[in-house]
Amino acid sequence: MKTMMKIMKKQIFDNLKDISQEEKELLERAFLFAENAHHRQERKSQEPYINHPLRVALLLSKMKLGANTIIAGLLHDILEDADIPLEEIKSNFNDEVAFLVQALTKINKIKYKKGETDMEKENFRNMILAMTKDIRVILIKLSDRLDNMKTIWALDEEKQKKKAMETLEIFAPLAYRLGLTDIGAQLEDYSFPYAYPEEYKLTRKIVGKRREELENYLKKLVPLVEKRLNIVNLSPLKIKFRAKHLYSIWRKLQKEEMDIKRVYDLVAMRLIFSKVEECYAALGIIHEIYKPMPGRFKDYIALPKPNGYRSLHTAVFAEEGRIVEIQIRTKEMDEEAEWGIASSWLYDSMKNSKSYKKRKSFIPPKRFYWLNQLQEWQKKFYNSRNFLEYLKVDFFKDRIFVLTPKGEIVDLPDGATPVDFAYQIHTEVGNQAASAKINGKLTPLDSVLKSGDMVEIIVQKNKMPSSKWLEFVKMAEVRKKIQEVVKKQKEKTKKGK
Ligand code: MN
Repeated sequence: MKTMMKIMKKQIFDNLKDISQEEKELLERAFLFAENAHHRQERKSQEPYINHPLRVALLLSKMKLGANTIIAGLLHDILEDADIPLEEIKSNFNDEVAFLVQALTKINKIKYKKGETDMEKENFRNMILAMTKDIRVILIKLSDRLDNMKTIWALDEEKQKKKAMETLEIFAPLAYRLGLTDIGAQLEDYSFPYAYPEEYKLTRKIVGKRREELENYLKKLVPLVEKRLNIVNLSPLKIKFRAKHLYSIWRKLQKEEMDIKRVYDLVAMRLIFSKVEECYAALGIIHEIYKPMPGRFKDYIALPKPNGYRSLHTAVFAEEGRIVEIQIRTKEMDEEAEWGIASSWLYDSMKNSKSYKKRKSFIPPKRFYWLNQLQEWQKKFYNSRNFLEYLKVDFFKDRIFVLTPKGEIVDLPDGATPVDFAYQIHTEVGNQAASAKINGKLTPLDSVLKSGDMVEIIVQKNKMPSSKWLEFVKMAEVRKKIQEVVKKQKEKTKKGK
């Protein structure tokens, strides 16, 4: 057990080449702290609990995130599972680590109910984004979930299904949105057998030996391609084979009438070069040797995908007339596709955090479409002095997401009050609202709600809305409803006189 810790510690430090002495000491303290906190605790998989935070931290170190994020990864379960108060994290480490750990504990409290509509799923994903307000929190959460999925076999059947569905519907899409395609694919493949066992079995049966056979065929193709590239002095840094992951094969099969022969990218040949020019030159050569398949060429270098993904994709008729998918990209693009543009962007901004202060603003390269969009939403953060502040991502600065006591999500404008909430539930609930509980505590009706609040409205029969509500309600439609009732009331009393 101790040796496991040693090995993983070394791997983590190896991934963090340029950290300061101070950060190194803080990390050492975090290893000890986490080990003590989880002392004698076991996972459902019957291994020492500490192995889990260690693996999460290792994954985060591969994403090249700073020391504080990795420390938060080591400590991410101690508020909930080891009963250590937040104050102790603050005093032993720093506010940033405490913030990250607390934010993670908060999103763990959101309960996901399956069988929701696409709209509700999207709301749920948005709520997670809105609540975290910092990309790093999501990166830690995704690493945590990925590691949990690796030991999902240890859970009971009902929990397996629930976790697998949640991972497929919420967390894998979040990973893709952040450009973490490799993590997204892994999350999907660990979930697939538990979420859709029948479909999983069928897909495996259909794929059968085909994938292996295709890979062997591609291996024979490599020297032929390399030879032609060498003639014009092009030599790839690396040639890889990328097997399409099972869950995405399943999705593709559904589109292709379950015909595996039409899934051309079952295994793709991937050529890695150092320069962009070489990628285009290599593409030209390949199209010269093998006829391209019409409609299959995609230039994601000139036109990156919204999550920042860049590569050239083509499908060609190769030896024996077989269709082969070829992907060409630079080393940098390849690494980004694996670890995500969000993390590489964060890493760069952290590295340059000192010089950053001198600059007016940090502008992510144009191709980071998704991040550019984020930046639009949160320009204000980019002018702030505090480093943590500008890492904060206010994804939905005009919206908040609160919960009903049943865990349903209600989407409201920023500044909304329990009265706005009540009218969103039902007009009668609004009209008869007497008081409100926020997170179980009795709270005035004019309080301002925050994302993640659980709101309960206490109604009283025959109660009428007060004209005072008009002073604080946020939503125009709610104001209109209140005005109508108040007006009717006045007319009634007039008549009564
Ligand atoms: Mn965990």
